[in-house]
Amino acid sequence: MLLEGKVAVVTGGTRGIGFEIVRKYLANGAKVVLFGSRQETVDKALEKLSAENPAWEFDGMCPKLTDAAEVEKAVLAVKEKFGRIDILVNNAGISQSTPLYNYTAEEFDKCIDLNVKALFYTILPAAKIMKEQGGGCILNTSSMVSISGQPAGVGYPTSKFAVNGMTISLARELAKDNIRVNAVAPGVTRTDMVAALPADVVARISAQIPLGRPGEPEEVANAFLYLASDMASYVTGEILSVDGASRA
Ligand code: NAD
Repeated sequence: MLLEGKVAVVTGGTRGIGFEIVRKYLANGAKVVLFGSRQETVDKALEKLSAENPAWEFDGMCPKLTDAAEVEKAVLAVKEKFGRIDILVNNAGISQSTPLYNYTAEEFDKCIDLNVKALFYTILPAAKIMKEQGGGCILNTSSMVSISGQPAGVGYPTSKFAVNGMTISLARELAKDNIRVNAVAPGVTRTDMVAALPADVVARISAQIPLGRPGEPEEVANAFLYLASDMASYVTGEILSVDGASRA
């Protein structure tokens, strides 16, 4: 019960890594509000959580994360309902792999809007709440490509380098308000997309990972649990890699 009594918001919490973070936080005593992109997927995720443990306290919303005013409204609604926000996890994100010569400005903007600007939109109202209540914790999902780059889809690594920059800078700015800011940088993780790949493709990917396999969403969620907990009370401005040494 590392998060007893805490209230957390997790964006992109309906599936994949985000859903495992939600489960891990609930299992450790937190109340959680997940943000998803559609009401239908939010409802499905909430149903799964109810079935797993009816005693867990959670809710779900689907504000448009690329709309600053909508996001602010949603964050304030969480504070209204649960009284506080101790943990904000900015996990929603999209990846891209389009080669540069086929890229469009619209595609690049879409990636930056969700992977970078939306983080600023959630952090701004949440940090004000955290400051007022005497502290809090902000966590962002980065990626191993924020360290190594990637050979196509330049918008994605660009956005994750920005996530690291925002994380390290805000850690320094918000430390005086007792707000810690960290990021987790996963490597290839066995979410639905990776699980659906043919076995030979997974084998090829695995061969390039020093630990010899993709990570499990739960292994990434464990890093989010540690960083959100008091065990990490002196850790801020850290980009924690969970990638089986892939970035090296
Ligand atoms: P996923 O596609 O399984 O889940 C993405 C989540 O983001 C979903 O809950 C979805 O609803 C939400 N989302 C997507 N577009 C949205 C939008 N426009 N508005 C609101 N929510 C939106 O992905 P995942 O693999 O679990 O990825 C989660 C995070 O982890 C992302 O930031 C991704 O960049 C990062 N990441 C993933 C991997 C990997 O291998 N899976 C590796 C490194 C980093």
